[in-house]
Amino acid sequence: MLSCRDVSERATDLMERRLPLREWLAMKVHLGMCQACRNYMDQLRKTVGLLGDPRLRAELREDEAVRVATAARRGDSDRAE
Ligand SMILES: [Zn+2]
Repeated sequence: MLSCRDVSERATDLMERRLPLREWLAMKVHLGMCQACRNYMDQLRKTVGLLGDPRLRAELREDEAVRVATAARRGDSDRAE
């Protein structure tokens, strides 16, 4: 089962249809059960749809990587407490 973090890490791959079938299915299953990740995907789709430019999208992926890394660190400290 994917975690929400797994989903956020694969979100752009899902949108750009670069996931293998197994991972695509796992994402769909998670999204079917998880409102937070559905909201996240909607938000990401809107953002990428507004940008459109591949160079801007590349920058978005970097921003996204930073955001996910930050969230991951937060998650780790939450678990440690
Ligand atoms: Zn989730």
